[in-house]
Amino acid sequence: MSRSSNAAPEQVALDASAQTLSVHWADGHTSTYSLDGLRRACPCAHCQGHGGDAPGPEVFDAPPEREWTDVRAETVGGYALRLRWDDGHDTGLYRWTYLRALCPCPECRS
Ligand SMILES: [Zn+2]
Ligand SMILES: [Zn+2]
Repeated sequence: MSRSSNAAPEQVALDASAQTLSVHWADGHTSTYSLDGLRRACPCAHCQGHGGDAPGPEVFDAPPEREWTDVRAETVGGYALRLRWDDGHDTGLYRWTYLRALCPCPECRS
């Protein structure tokens, strides 16, 4: 396990008007996620249930179901991002490795 495998990104930027979350990784890559897709990918047990495959970048292919107006992002212990949604849901911890695997850009998906 290399130290960089779960390295915290250099910057996380939430843009409520664009409905996106952008992550600038330490290796220079930038990932931009739609908030609605991120909510579908929420890794908590409530959202994902038990078993089954972890969501992948395909969660960003579906059209947004709703707009998220008051989302907060905070880092947790240096290893994950917690998203606090405007419906009060905040139990999903998005590990950096998980977020990176979700990156929907063509480069990462190919
Ligand atoms: Zn959840
Ligand atoms: Zn990417």
